[in-house]
Amino acid sequence: MKRYSAFAVAREALRNHMGWERAWASPEPKKKYDVIIVGAGGHGLATAYYLGKNFGITNVAILEKGWLGGGNTGRNTTIIRSNYLQDPSAAIYEKSRSLYETLSQDLNYNVMYSPRGVIMLAQTEHEVRGYKRTAHANALQGVSTEFISPQRVKEIVPIINLDGPRYPVLGGLWQARAGTARHDAVAWGFARACSAMGMDIIQKCEVTGVSRDGDKVTGVTTNRGDIACDKLGIVVAGNSGHLADMAGFRLPIESVSLQALVSEPIKPCMDCVVMANTVHGYMSQSDKGEMVIGGGTDGFNSYTQRGSFHHIEETVRALVETFPMVARLKMLRQWGGIVDITGDRSPILSKTPVDGVFINSGWGTGGFKATPGSGWGFAELIAKGHSPLCDEFSLTRFKEGRFIDESVAAGVAH
Ligand SMILES: Cc1cc2nc3c(=O)[nH]c(=O)nc-3n(C[C@H](O)[C@H](O)[C@H](O)COP(=O)(O)OP(=O)(O)OC[C@H]3O[C@@H](n4cnc5c(N)ncnc54)[C@H](O)[C@@H]3O)c2cc1C
Repeated sequence: MKRYSAFAVAREALRNHMGWERAWASPEPKKKYDVIIVGAGGHGLATAYYLGKNFGITNVAILEKGWLGGGNTGRNTTIIRSNYLQDPSAAIYEKSRSLYETLSQDLNYNVMYSPRGVIMLAQTEHEVRGYKRTAHANALQGVSTEFISPQRVKEIVPIINLDGPRYPVLGGLWQARAGTARHDAVAWGFARACSAMGMDIIQKCEVTGVSRDGDKVTGVTTNRGDIACDKLGIVVAGNSGHLADMAGFRLPIESVSLQALVSEPIKPCMDCVVMANTVHGYMSQSDKGEMVIGGGTDGFNSYTQRGSFHHIEETVRALVETFPMVARLKMLRQWGGIVDITGDRSPILSKTPVDGVFINSGWGTGGFKATPGSGWGFAELIAKGHSPLCDEFSLTRFKEGRFIDESVAAGVAH
């Protein structure tokens, strides 16, 4: 694979861009792989990448029923932060955030990581206490955050209205090295690197069954034939329940729609991400100038990749309170994804009752930020049977009552 560089861009500019190679190959499936990953979203691709990079396992197929990055990875609002309360969460989200810092160089692909800072607004006394507690926990965990005053919020975000009609801004949890990245580029960068290592990314290949010999996995059935494997990683976000059912076990997961929208592009007006979780709306500005706006989950389970209409209205109403200038914007597009939510709002990275089958799910409304860290840990779990980043997130915690409660950090936030 030819490396991307400033020199390569100049060279191709001179020859009409005719010399670029395809970023990844589209091979036919082989009969057997050491590891099959189901789902070519960010987490599946990152898992495959770190299997190759950290453990030298490259006889890997990534099977995707649609197109790579077409699930939640290509539908999210790209917020990256690591200001979680519990130690296992801080460990995996901060590992992920730190991997993002150098991911473009590592993948030789510009993922446009922009550590522009994220504020989570405190608009009730309850939130003030919750976020101060998180800031103290983060200090102990080595995650750099601080609780800031309303005046400091206004300095960072001049367009904000501190005295909203329902909830005044009482402060905020500020993480200066949090931010955003280009979601498609994250998927594409991992895909290109996996393909360069000789892995097979097979799109339009839907897994329809999981084959077992007793308690041991032997392969999968797909719309492109049967494919054998020694180990199987299920990384399908909102479809996790279906895949678990095919493998013969159940998950404590609910699948619901989560939606987002963008405005027409405008001149730069806000250079950080602001989340208003009490009124429930959050916003950042994309490099194109669109205001990227995230809303809430539907209150009922579904597998539709679109959200219900009243949420758009609620989200926009919340934003107009927080940022009155939004009232004059035209909205361009709205879309949704199917997110996989656990009771304690923490992910599942675990072995399963089926020998050789591993599950990575439950990232809910906030897994984009965890993409590289999740891939790093899950690859280790598949390769070695356990991983310090994943061990606390096993399925057994639901039986043992060892919940990792992240309802403040992830109950409504992204
Ligand atoms: C509107 C919205 C906003 C969000 N905002 C944020 C945010 O700001 N920050 C943040 O951190 N997170 C956010 N998230 C959450 C984040 O997008 C997800 O947690 C993350 O992208 C999950 O990645 P994934 O790779 O696990 O799943 P996906 O990207 O969904 O990939 C799973 C893949 O599995 C494939 N698949 C499913 N079934 C099969 C099958 N049977 N056979 C083969 N392939 C199959 C799917 O087609 C899909 O491509 C948001 C999500 C949404 C929907």
